[in-house]
This record gives sequence, C-alpha cells and structure tokens, in this order.
Amino acid sequence: MTEPTLFAALQALLGERHVQADEVGLPVLSDKHRQYHGRVQAIVHPASAEEVAGVVRLCAHHAAPVVVQGGNTGLMAGATPDGSGRSVLMLLDRMNRIRDVDTDNDTLTVEAGCILANVQAAARAAGRLFPLSLGAEGSCTLGGNLGTNAGGTGVLRYGNARELTLGLEVVTAEGEIWHGLRGLRKDNTGYDLRDLYIGSEGTLGIITAATVKLFPLPESRCTAFVAFASLPSAVAFLSHARNGFGASLTAFELLSAQCLTLLQEQFPEAVLPFGERSQPWYALIELSHPQAEDSARALFEAVLSSALESELIEDAVIAQSLAQSDAMWQLRENMSEAQARAGRNMKHDISLPVSRINEFVERTGALLQQHFPGVRNFTFGHLGDGNLHYNVAHPLDSTVAAHMANYAALSRLVHDSAHAHGGSISAEHGVGQRKRDLLGDYKSPVELDLMRRIKRALDPHNLLNPGKVLPLETP
Ligand SMILES: Cc1cc2nc3c(=O)[nH]c(=O)nc-3n(C[C@H](O)[C@H](O)[C@H](O)COP(=O)(O)OP(=O)(O)OC[C@H]3O[C@@H](n4cnc5c(N)ncnc54)[C@H](O)[C@@H]3O)c2cc1C
Repeated sequence: MTEPTLFAALQALLGERHVQADEVGLPVLSDKHRQYHGRVQAIVHPASAEEVAGVVRLCAHHAAPVVVQGGNTGLMAGATPDGSGRSVLMLLDRMNRIRDVDTDNDTLTVEAGCILANVQAAARAAGRLFPLSLGAEGSCTLGGNLGTNAGGTGVLRYGNARELTLGLEVVTAEGEIWHGLRGLRKDNTGYDLRDLYIGSEGTLGIITAATVKLFPLPESRCTAFVAFASLPSAVAFLSHARNGFGASLTAFELLSAQCLTLLQEQFPEAVLPFGERSQPWYALIELSHPQAEDSARALFEAVLSSALESELIEDAVIAQSLAQSDAMWQLRENMSEAQARAGRNMKHDISLPVSRINEFVERTGALLQQHFPGVRNFTFGHLGDGNLHYNVAHPLDSTVAAHMANYAALSRLVHDSAHAHGGSISAEHGVGQRKRDLLGDYKSPVELDLMRRIKRALDPHNLLNPGKVLPLETP
C-alpha cells in the first residue's frame, strides 16, 4: 500500500475543511509589507494542542518545515514561509478560547490564536487588566505576541510579553506537548524553558496556550502632552516623572517636532495640543492610578508644576476629558499611517540605554547628514524603555526610490551607531527574515554559537520556521 501524501494525511488528521492548498496571492503567504512571498504544501488550521502536535509529527515524518502564523502583523517577515513550497503553514485561528480566568491568582489562561484585543476584553470582563497593548491589537494574536516578545505602550510599567507570562503550553519539534501552564510567580526548578520559547519566533516550538498575569484595573487615568526644549530635558523629566508617579506612570511616548509636523500635514483635521507653539521634543505621558480621578489629577498637576518650575518642561496640556485623552493617543497611533501616507521611509526599531539616547540621536543625525545630505528624521518611541523608532525619510529634493536605493548603507550606519552606543538593532519587533543576516554583525561569535546550539538541541532537523532569526550557515 502506498503511503498517503502529506496533504492527504493532514486532511485525514484535521478534516478536509481545515487543510487548504497553496494559492497565489493569499495574504497569509506574504508578509505585512508584501515584500516577502512564500509557497507551501498546505495551510492547516488545527483546533487543539493535540492536533498541532499531530501536524508537527506528520511534517517531521515528511521532512516538511512548519511555519506558525498568528495575525501576520509582525514587521520582520517572521511568519512568511520561504519560496521552496516545502513548508506547511500553520494558522491557529481555531485556537482562540479563553480556557480559564483565576481572579484569586490574578491569571488568565488562553489559547495562542486568541486576538490580543479579545484577551484584554476577557480580563476586563473579570474586573482585571491585561496590560499588553499595541497598535495591531485588533488583529495580532497572543501567540504572535509571545513569539516576538512584543512590547508596546505599557512596558514602562508592566514589562513586555515575556514579563507578563507565567506559563506556556508548547508543541516541540518532535510533536510532543510540554504542559507548562503554571500560574506561579515563583518557580526556581531549573532552566527557564518558558523564557526560551518566548521571543523565539516559532523557531524552537509552537506555543499553543499561555497563562498570563492580570493586574487591577486602574481607577482613573490622566493623560498629558508635554513639550521639551531639548532631548536631555525629556530624559531628565522621565526620571522626575518616575519619582513623582511611581508605578502609576504607565506611558511615556516621545515624539520629535518633525513627527508632529508630519501628523499635521497628513491629518489636517487633527488638533495639535500646542497649536502653533513649537518645541523640539514632546512626550505623551499617562498616569493610571489606583485611586479616584481627583487624587490622580492632583498628583499629576503637582508633578507637572514642579517640572515647569525647575524648567524641565516648557509646557504641558492635560487632557480634560476621555475624548481629549483619546485624541492625544490618536496622534501617537497615527504616526505609522502618517509616514505611510508621506511615502516609504527607512524604519529602525532600536533600543539604547536611556542615558545614551541623546548622544545617539545627535551623533547619528550628524553622520546621516554627512553621508546622506537632506534626509529627514522622524524619531519617536517608548522613551521609558529606551526604544526608538528611528525612521529616516527621503530628502525633499529627491525621490523615495532614490532614497530606498541607499537602504543597506543607511541602515548599516544607524545600526552601527546604535550598537556603538550600547544598543540593540531590534528592540521589540524581532528578527524574522528581515534582520536575520544582521545578527552576525552585532552578536559575538560566542552568543551566536550558543543560540545555534539551542536551536540544534530543540529542533535537530531544522523543521520549525527555518531561515528565521539565525543567520544562514554556509555549508
Ligand atoms: C500597526 C502595528 C503596530 C505594532 N506595534 C507594535 C508595538 O508597539 N510593539 C511591538 O512589540 N510590536 C508591534 N508590532 C509588531 C508586532 O510584532 C506584532 O503586531 C505582534 O506581536 C505579532 O503578532 P501576530 O499574531 O500578528 O504574529 P505574526 O506576525 O503572525 O508572527 C510573528 C512571529 O511570531 C511567530 N509566531 C506566531 N504565532 C506563534 C506561536 N503560536 N508560537 C510561536 N511562535 C509564533 C511567527 O512564526 C513569527 O515569527 C506592530 C505591528 C503593527 C502592524
């Protein structure tokens, strides 16, 4: 009797409806920016960890790589299969159940295919906060957030996806299930497998469920836009705000004056907090307070007044209503769209020690003007986490195409500079395919070798999302 094909075996395992054939143009076969395109043997939709494990075992038997994809909002093309047509693309859209909410333990257990906004909503329905929050939350999944160790706007107070996770359920490259859904805040029983799988971008195992931490819902929220005469003032105000607000400071989003100008150009209807008055740097700050509005506002005003008196800040506008607060956040969230409307630019998701951010910005800006005169910086990001979105647009007297032709050289300059200032070339978006070949330049041989040894130990046949994260080895 002849052995069934992989496609037929997958259909027998999952049911015909849950196995799709490759079709040119399917959005799941391209990355978010439609720059990387893949071909596959099959697209599968398992409904349980057991089915995921069954798929992995079948794929291992047929030597077919498995690429797991969540909402496909990742920015590093990590969820896009290669063009060989050998891979099986696994979508976890049927694995979207909230399995358990434990309000005594302040934990929630959820399947990896659950959309992040739905995880937040489930926490809210239980009177709790799940604080992971990012622009793509309406379509990204918790599995993808964990795969990339996503950050977002709440890291300053609550940490990134790794710090929000207590336990995992993972399917290994051999098709076994690791039942690690522990809701423990203390567990020192050996190597931390959980932290290894988080951020491994589907290359070490497939996360099928997670137990995450919940927090009290804040009683009140205050938002303000603050203006600074210089970047060092913004950094100094960050310390001031941390001292004054303690754990209640939940956001500190930096924007340069160029960003606000771009927002005004691309969204003429948007109301800028300071109208025509301009300063070189701004921050959107937010306080999420355990007490009622009055006490939050009093604290907010006291900290801002003392910063004004000591000339750390030039001006501040405090949102007077939820609508005003939302409008301020809208400005920050519109930054991606404003850049897209203005034409493609070169994006750099980098992180630095906060104490070296000003030096980085000054030196890198000068180097850019020296080598690529006229380029325009749009710098914004999560200052409290040292995470800058250091984006560079074409000179006004040149074209996007001419600018993009310099991509490799310009990005190298930026990444070299971030590295020289003690920073990282990927703060929160991961490595995927896009930054894979850069790792060799910025990680030591020892570190890269350790990473390769971990990959070989957990995925000896290189079947899980091959060609991602680790630079390719020459045979
Ligand atoms: C508008 C916008 C705003 C964004 N803002 C932020 C931000 O503020 N902070 C931030 O950190 N990121 C941000 N991102 C990028 C971010 O990485 C993703 O939005 C999100 O975390 C990825 O989730 P996803 O479900 O779309 O994953 P995908 O794109 O589908 O996958 C991403 C990676 O994770 C792997 N993966 C997916 N599911 C699993 C799983 N179950 N097990 C193991 N690996 C898995 C994939 O193989 C791939 O390598 C933003 C993206 C967009 C489009």
